[in-house]
Amino acid sequence: MDLGIKGRTALVCGASKGLGYGCAEALVKEGVNVVIVARTAETLEAAATKLRAINPAVTVKAVATDITTALGREAAFAAHKDYDIVVTNAGGPPTGDFRDWNRDMWVAALDANMLTPIELIKAVIDGMMARGFGRIINITSSAVKAPIDILGLSNGARSGLTGFVAGVARSGAVAKNVTINNLLPGIFDTDRIVSNFAAQAKKSGQSLEEVRAARVNGHPAKRLGTPAEFGATCAFLCSQHASYINGQNILIDGGSFPGTF
Ligand code: NAP
Repeated sequence: MDLGIKGRTALVCGASKGLGYGCAEALVKEGVNVVIVARTAETLEAAATKLRAINPAVTVKAVATDITTALGREAAFAAHKDYDIVVTNAGGPPTGDFRDWNRDMWVAALDANMLTPIELIKAVIDGMMARGFGRIINITSSAVKAPIDILGLSNGARSGLTGFVAGVARSGAVAKNVTINNLLPGIFDTDRIVSNFAAQAKKSGQSLEEVRAARVNGHPAKRLGTPAEFGATCAFLCSQHASYINGQNILIDGGSFPGTF
């Protein structure tokens, strides 16, 4: 299927690896120019080189910056002004016990997983509406639907974003072909999940391999998801065909959530 987005330009945050990279790769394969952002220049440049090799016809710009800061966002918009597509993502907050989290840790989680996506939406939505096309995808978490005890910072901050998006997605932008949706990853094979496994191993006294095996065995798909699978869904939501999918929270978890809906 031709997604009809060839020649569009996307900002993909947190894109040097993991799910953000999966989204960038899927978009590049569809002929979308991308500006990819992550803090570590070396891994980001390596990702940009890989993307350019996948589709030499597109422009790939790498902006090494912290997207959760105002300066970082300025740098992302200095690389390109009028984005057609924005994928928000900034890595997840640390795991732990809420008794150990102080106000600064909560503010950092809110900045990364709630306020930064809101700032990015604010920066692009009016321009997208004026041009008659826009796709905004927020990478959130299955923790929004089914909270994870050691991820209280994520449960809280992302639920705030989810509530905000539910309102703004229905506030007029969709009539101008601008959609906003959240993608909720279940368990995907990325560096982030390995560090979560390590935290669980430490808490339970099991080895990393035992934690991983238990999660895989207990999963209906008997495997973790791949960033490429995640990216493919993201690219479809960014397509011209997805203009009537708006304000949704789309769970990609291989059927792990046990509910009927
Ligand atoms: P990952 O493999 O750790 O990759 C995170 C990416 O974001 C890296 O490119 C990282 O590069 C970048 N990044 C982190 N903080 C940033 C910042 N402040 N500014 C710019 N870039 C930043 O993580 P992932 O597994 O792909 O997860 C992506 C998101 O999905 C996270 O929010 C995570 O919590 C959520 N999630 C993941 C899973 C899963 O199973 N993997 C499940 C549920 C939710 P630098 O470190 O160099 O900046």
